[in-house]
Amino acid sequence: MLRLGIRNQLDLLLHLPVRYQDRTHIIPIGQLSPGDECYVSGEIVKVNVGYGRRRSLVITLDDGGAFLSMRLFHFSPHQRESLRAGVWLRLFGEARLNRSGLEMVHPEYRVFSSEPGPIEPELKPVYRVTAGISNSRIAGWIQQVLAQPPDLHSYKTMGFTLEDALQVIHLPPIDQPDLVETARKRLAFDELLAYYLVMKRRQEDVSSMPARALPPVRQLGKELLNELGFRLTRAQRKTTTDVLNDLAKTRATMRLIQGDVGSGKTVVAAFAAIRAAENGTQTAIMAPTEILAEQHYETFSSWLSPLGIRVGLLTGRLAAAERRSKLNAIAEGDDLVIIGTHAIFQRDVVFQDLGLTIVDEQHRFGVHQRMSLRNKGRLPHQLVMTATPIPRTLSMTLYADMELSVIDEMPPGRAPIITSIHANERRDEVVEGIGHEVAAGHQAFWICAAIEESADSEIKAAETVYRELKEKLPHVTVGLIHGRMKAFQKSATMSQFKSGEIGLLVSTTVVEVGVDVPNATQMVIDDPDRLGLAQLHQLRGRIGRGHVPSHCTLLYEAPLTELAKSRLNVMRETNDGFLIAEKDLELRGPGDIMGTRQTGERQFRVSDLSTDISLFKDVVQTGDKMREADLETAEAIIKAWTPPETSYASV
Ligand code: ADP
Ligand code: MG
Repeated sequence: MLRLGIRNQLDLLLHLPVRYQDRTHIIPIGQLSPGDECYVSGEIVKVNVGYGRRRSLVITLDDGGAFLSMRLFHFSPHQRESLRAGVWLRLFGEARLNRSGLEMVHPEYRVFSSEPGPIEPELKPVYRVTAGISNSRIAGWIQQVLAQPPDLHSYKTMGFTLEDALQVIHLPPIDQPDLVETARKRLAFDELLAYYLVMKRRQEDVSSMPARALPPVRQLGKELLNELGFRLTRAQRKTTTDVLNDLAKTRATMRLIQGDVGSGKTVVAAFAAIRAAENGTQTAIMAPTEILAEQHYETFSSWLSPLGIRVGLLTGRLAAAERRSKLNAIAEGDDLVIIGTHAIFQRDVVFQDLGLTIVDEQHRFGVHQRMSLRNKGRLPHQLVMTATPIPRTLSMTLYADMELSVIDEMPPGRAPIITSIHANERRDEVVEGIGHEVAAGHQAFWICAAIEESADSEIKAAETVYRELKEKLPHVTVGLIHGRMKAFQKSATMSQFKSGEIGLLVSTTVVEVGVDVPNATQMVIDDPDRLGLAQLHQLRGRIGRGHVPSHCTLLYEAPLTELAKSRLNVMRETNDGFLIAEKDLELRGPGDIMGTRQTGERQFRVSDLSTDISLFKDVVQTGDKMREADLETAEAIIKAWTPPETSYASV
């Protein structure tokens, strides 16, 4: 049961059906199509033992209109005996087409000696199961609990208490099937409310706990400012000021820095890390990929080492001895800024004195991960950076615990990115064009998108394209990078690309976030329609970082659906991440924006951000009221929805 995340009665009730079997009526056999899952009824007219590749018992049914076979590969003498011509069967299963017509293989069936009466109609829930626990056992347990539900401290909203909603979901009324969706929304409301309450409580906890103030000490930031080689934009200055003011306080900072791809968030993080270092405390910076962690390591080293601040890198794939020595440097406080993947939040990482944590590209980390990022040591200040433009309604709930800074301005002098859309028939032309660009000294990405969430297909596609491009462009140095490569291979390839040794880099979407190679001005994306707009925008943000115009080519396989066309057109029409997010919201809903589709991770158990966004306003209102008037219910709701593996409560 724990494998299903079920610890108690409430978890069991919240183990919701993934779908329902429609057992509300008998379908005439003549109306069946292959793939239909349904009830049928008929008289046995023929019994055969077939000796094909495997022995099977084949029963032919006649319902007066048409024939259907039932095929059993495993059967007992008793079954063979009872399934005689003249008796009636009622079957529930999926109809398939085979050579001799429609059949059901191992359906559920009941035997009747004569034509049976009307069925007892039901919508039967189908649950996620695990080895050794069948659907009917889970259903049985749930029904038991439903008969005597635990006290859920429920409140009524949308016409339902939680108990009502659960009843409807597990025992759907057949005359009102629409009620199921309303009940699901009611649960979604509860879940989002729980999330909101946790965020609010966390905000409260944090603001009531003292943190170490990090005031200006040595003005080291000024030194970096002089060495940067560019001037900060107004938005960067404003955000940096916000952050540094926060850090000087004795309350822990919780700030979300939102800024489009390329708006220059990294340097803001650097100023924060410098401030922490001036005060002798450590900064942990977490990046979602190893590639990005290494890039940050290089950037931060080049900025901070000259100031005498030691930077360390900790990723998941270090050899044991190396890892030990890095851990030691962290524990002793030799490294003041530690950059890594989620490896830096593992249990064995002990900081000497952690004053600040920075999470980069927040949208890549799931909601639950965010809730479980446990702080190490004393309460550190926290910064979260994201390139995802989050609509206000969403950020109010999902980031209810944070202050918000927006970097709403791009560094000056950026040349534009021109996006064009071509069908794959023009692939050779596109390849040739890339060849010319690289010959002219520019660099290019060629991105292969995944089918659904399968990393394997993505990697295979990248390998194929890599071979193709090497063959078609013999004078170009082509590189390949994907998530399954060894860390050292990835970083070697990345640094070759950065140094210009590699002219054309074939990659999966692993380069989606953060990678910064200003000389790269060309990008081709294969099968762009498989990606969300937010993700396309992120990817495209890898180019357009220098002073020459950049080109992005979206190379699609015809035919495209109308929706896909209009989505790709959005990419052609604008480079503005906020506008793209808004359009995407219009076209597809926010799942895309929040990164659910990117990571394939379910963010919530019940809620689906793409359909439940309309609930947010009420969630905030109800939540605020509840926090004032009914803390007991608030606590109960939080407790009910806390996922088993994490602790929402820990700050
Ligand atoms: P993102 O917000 O996507 O993380 P980065 O911090 O990686 O963006 O910055 C993108 C690029 O722009 C980097 O090469 C960075 O050095 C450069 N950059 C940042 N701020 C400025 C600025 N004010 N003027 C010019 N270039 C800048
Ligand atoms: Mg970045």
